[in-house]
Parts: sequence; structure tokens; C-alpha cells
Amino acid sequence: MTMSKTVAPTILIVEDEPAQMELLAFNLEKQDYRVARAQNGEDALLLVDEVAPDLVLLDWMLPTLSGFKVCKQIKRRKSSASIPVIMLTARGEDRDKIRGLDAGADDYVVKPYSVNELLARVRAILRRASPARSGKILQHGALELDPVRHRITCDGEPIELGPLEYKLLLVLLEQPGRVWSREQLLDRVWGKDIFVETRTVDVHVGRLRRKLMAGGAEDPVRTLRGFGYALKQVD
Ligand code: CA
Repeated sequence: MTMSKTVAPTILIVEDEPAQMELLAFNLEKQDYRVARAQNGEDALLLVDEVAPDLVLLDWMLPTLSGFKVCKQIKRRKSSASIPVIMLTARGEDRDKIRGLDAGADDYVVKPYSVNELLARVRAILRRASPARSGKILQHGALELDPVRHRITCDGEPIELGPLEYKLLLVLLEQPGRVWSREQLLDRVWGKDIFVETRTVDVHVGRLRRKLMAGGAEDPVRTLRGFGYALKQVD
């Protein structure tokens, strides 16, 4: 699998059984995914905000806050509603599956599952959620980003962006309806292990805006005061 054109996807595993957790984490890391771990629903919701995962693997049976409730919370919040969730259900009862899908889960896998099957589901959902990973051109109004050629145009006119501005725009365009906090953008664009102040995000969004608007185009970025950024809606 090659993911060099985009940022390696982050998958949040929510699982209270250590052996299951390790099995999943091991197999996902082997596929070059970045993995975040939560052993209960409360931590899961905190991590969803903190790391803005690309996908959540969510165990149904969790202590205190159930997988069902966690899923509902993720899907209810504007900042996380577009994050796909795969429910891991032990019981395999149809009633649970239906409830899982009611809670907004995108897919479910019944335990005991085959790791290969689970990985295939993960790939399929990530591909659906992120068109850039399958090499599709991303569009937003007059703006186009070609992830294969690393080319950006506005009304057909090429726009030169630095690597960080490019990554920022890619992250925004991949999920046009999504609202990002500065911390989430830092994590996604700069990486988790690098210390940068959130102010840096504002600086680079400013640069990105100026470059995108240089040819007279409208500002595609919306500022959410005290929180972060999103793309403006286009008709
Ligand atoms: Ca469990």
C-alpha cells in the first residue's frame, strides 16, 4: 500500500480487551496506519477531539459508556460527525447491528472477525471517505487539487503552494463539510510529535488564503473564531 501522496490515516481503536487491542494495533501499524488507543468510551471521545482520527474502530461492549453511546456522540458533534465508525460487535445479533447503524455507524464487523476482512473494510471506508487517496481530483468551487500531480488550479490557473499550505488545503478539501480545530490541523498537517504553537496554524492559513485569492478568487476558508477553520460551503 502506498500513501506517500497523502498523510497516513490515523485510526482510533476503542477496545477494552488488551489482547484484542494489541492484535488490531499490530495489524494496522503493519499497514502503515497511525494508531491511537482508547480503552473506554470516555477516553475515546476525548481522543476523537484531540487527534481527529480518519476512522474509529469501536467495540460495542465497553465498560460504563457503551459503544452505541460513543458512536451517537461522535455522530452528533459537528466536528466529528463525518468521521467514519466501524462497530465491532461480539454478539452478532441482528438487533445490535441495526442499533449500531441507527447510532450512525458506517459499518460493523462481528467478532470473532478475520483480520484480513477487517482491513479490507477499513480500506474501503477510508477510500470512500477520502477521495484523494484513490487519486481523484478534489474540487471546491473554481479550485481544483490534483493529488497525483500535486497541482492546484483556480479557474484553470496554476497556484504555487509551499508544502505546508498544500497539506493544509488537502486536509480541508478531503472533508469539505468538516470543521477543524487548530490542534487537529496541527496534528494532521505538522504531525503529532512536532512542537509547534497553534498560532502557526493561523499564520499558514493566512498564507494559504493570500495565495488562493491572489488571482481575484473569493476566500474559500471560513474562520471559526477561537476554534479553528473550515471550508465555506459552495453551491
Ligand atoms: Ca469489549
